[in-house]
Amino acid sequence: MIDFHVHQPAAAAYGPDEYLAAMDELGVDVSVVFTYEGLLRPSAAANDSLAAWVAPTPERLVAFATVDPRDPGAGEEIERCVHEHGMRGVKLHPWLQGFSTHEPGLKRVCETAGRIGIPILFHDGTPPFSTPLQLAALARRHPRTQIVLGHGGLHDLWREAIEAVLTTVNVHLCMSGTPGYAMRAIVARCPLERLLFGTDAGLRPEPLQRYAVLRVRQLDELALDGAQREAILVTNPRRLLAA
Ligand SMILES: [Zn+2]
Repeated sequence: MIDFHVHQPAAAAYGPDEYLAAMDELGVDVSVVFTYEGLLRPSAAANDSLAAWVAPTPERLVAFATVDPRDPGAGEEIERCVHEHGMRGVKLHPWLQGFSTHEPGLKRVCETAGRIGIPILFHDGTPPFSTPLQLAALARRHPRTQIVLGHGGLHDLWREAIEAVLTTVNVHLCMSGTPGYAMRAIVARCPLERLLFGTDAGLRPEPLQRYAVLRVRQLDELALDGAQREAILVTNPRRLLAA
């Protein structure tokens, strides 16, 4: 199973070995890991710190870079993270990082990701800057770039997240922090090949986080059939990571 939404713990609360043990408990084979501190203060140093965290086990920990889209060097920083560190995507948080989806610098970021063939996962589900339809509009302006809604709209905007997937072919939806009843509706209505799952682990100081355990349980409670589980937990994430 591939967990498509994990954060490097803030202030080095625990190391990658401890997290790998937590992944084993959760039944997770591979985690897609983002910075957390770098979302508050995007920097090359934050990307380097994340790269060092995943470096010993690249077969189980895959890193995504972050950048400030207003930074004129954002495109180069993405390329550096991909080529020097083997990162496989970009994570952006318009709400924490304080930019709208009409920020002009996003053009450069989306074009760079589209050209390299890596996805951009956005935090979503919280106005004003992170609504699913704002991100779908951005995705339509950059049809070569694969955009992932990192939270499937959360509690308030999951219906809108379904609309975003149904109306925009390059939008994918990661169920992470999405309530169970919403996950059920998402699986029933969205094309299976555009769904992913993530725990959002990493925001608490202990490696095995209670809410991550609960999210895996929520997933199990969906009672997906074998083909659905394989698509959401293996084939779809692999396709985005290998693109
Ligand atoms: Zn997150």
